[in-house]
This record gives sequence, C-alpha cells and structure tokens, in this order.
Amino acid sequence: MPSTPVSFSESIQEKILEAHRIFRSWGNDLMGDRSIALLLQTLKGQILDSRKAMFDLGIVATCTHCDEEEGGSCCGAGIENRYNTVLLLMNLLLGVHLPAERLLPGGCFFLGRHGCVLEVRHILCINYLCLRIQREMPPDKMAALQDVTGREMDSVFTVHEAIKKFMRR
Ligand code: SF4
Ligand code: SF4
Repeated sequence: MPSTPVSFSESIQEKILEAHRIFRSWGNDLMGDRSIALLLQTLKGQILDSRKAMFDLGIVATCTHCDEEEGGSCCGAGIENRYNTVLLLMNLLLGVHLPAERLLPGGCFFLGRHGCVLEVRHILCINYLCLRIQREMPPDKMAALQDVTGREMDSVFTVHEAIKKFMRR
C-alpha cells in the first residue's frame, strides 16, 4: 500500500491536484475497504435524502429563482477555500468531476450553471440558509430539514475521519 500522507496545499487548484494524486495512489485501497465503502454508501444516501428534503420544501425552487431572476446566489468566490484535500478526495471517490478552473466569474470555484458541482459539501455549505429562507420556512419544516441535513453533516464528518485514519495506518 502506498504511504502517501495527506497534505493541505494553499490554492484550491493545488488542493484539487493533490486530491487527484491521492485518489490515484489510494483510491482502489479506499474503495476496496469494506468499512470505508459502506460509509461512503451511507453518505451517498444521506446526501440524496437532504437533496430530496430541500426539493420537497421548495428551497431548490426558491434558490433557483433567486439565482436566475434576482442574481442572488450566495455561492460566492472564496468559499472554495474552506475545502480541504480530504473533502475533495471524498468527492472523487463518489465519482465527481472536479473542475480545473472557476466555472462562473465571481462565483465559488465549484458553482456551475446548474448549481454546486460537488456531491460532498463542506458543513458550512450544508448548513447555510439565508435569512429569507429562515423567515419563510415554518418551524416544523425547518426542524425536519435540520434533522436530515444534520445526518448528512454527521456522515461527512465520519467518512472524513475514517479516510484520514485509514491513510495514517
Ligand atoms: S440561500 Fe437565499 S440567498 Fe442563497 S440562493 Fe437561496 S434564496 Fe438566494
Ligand atoms: S454549495 Fe457548492 S458552489 Fe455553493 S459555496 Fe458551497 S461549494 Fe461552493
């Protein structure tokens, strides 16, 4: 097994290159590990559950309208700097194609024409709801959403830590 350490580079492009390098060295070992494979599968399910909840609660429609008609997307340039190499590696393990360049001027590096290109997102991105949505959503629906996104965040953390542990051993 290769002994490549996880390193945290400065720019998002460097982090992406590093994630690709680790994926080439470790990808098969990580996906071949039963426990990691199971955790990734669970994470995939949690991400789908969150997306469904956001769609069902009308958040996807509100954000699409805000972005396309009001120019109000909150996915601004610089947020990508919150991402580390392991989070990017997790996206590669789930088959995400990471962009080589910023897709939209002024937008987050991972913002595409149809929204975020990532599957595995930073906790800040999962958790963020603007004041407008917070004001408009009834408390019971907000609680239901927080329940499902809370599970996604737990799952992201669990896989993140499991991968770091796997690569240290
Ligand atoms: S979270 Fe709020 S500001 Fe961001 S895109 Fe949705 S509606 Fe617009
Ligand atoms: S949700 Fe995606 S596009 Fe939006 S800020 Fe987060 S990483 Fe960037």
